Amino acid sequence: MRILVVEDAVDLAEAIIRRFQRAGHSLDHAITGEDAEEFLDLQQYDLMVLDINLPGKDGFSVLKEMRKKKDTTPVLVLTARSEIDDRVSALDVGADDYVVKPFDFRELEARARALLRRKQGYSSSVTVHGNTVFDRSKGMVSVDERTIILPNREFRVLEIFLGNIDRILTKEEIVEQLYGFDDSPGPNAIELYVARLRKKLEGASVSIRTVRGMGYVAELEN
Ligand code: CA
Repeated sequence: MRILVVEDAVDLAEAIIRRFQRAGHSLDHAITGEDAEEFLDLQQYDLMVLDINLPGKDGFSVLKEMRKKKDTTPVLVLTARSEIDDRVSALDVGADDYVVKPFDFRELEARARALLRRKQGYSSSVTVHGNTVFDRSKGMVSVDERTIILPNREFRVLEIFLGNIDRILTKEEIVEQLYGFDDSPGPNAIELYVARLRKKLEGASVSIRTVRGMGYVAELEN
């Protein structure tokens, strides 16, 4: 999934970015509210982590304007303990959730996971696709009760496919969800991930078919 972190405290932002990258997500980082708006104009995000106190335009104004423009990107607000009222107002102006600084990274990740899941329309972190079980919170996949180890990127590629069953995805769409603006995948990266996934998912009810000249489509065996 693609996540935008808007936080001017660079050390904290980098720590958040590392955590999410380790989970296989792609990250972009904005330092000011104005930067954040530029990113939002260029790219669709699955989640935005938004600090309230920013140089220039603050997080509230960014959030308010997004919602006014009917931008429904899930927003997780970061707020300091001294700014207790911020939490209430953040929810009032359209934040989906908040965490209070200083926070435990596990809490941040759990809340982020819940929002990403909700965006994909799942109420639980575990989804079952025929004989294939996909567990987002444990980062595990199993086929017929056989556990399959997938590196983070492959896990995310599969997650993207499972969220788009029967829909053709172009390589560009997959790349957009997997990589931030700062890292560019090699031209064959997606082909490579798909090839590896196919091999590992042998016998699974979910299969990934190549649609010549267009991209890929994930299909469920009946
Ligand atoms: Ca700040």
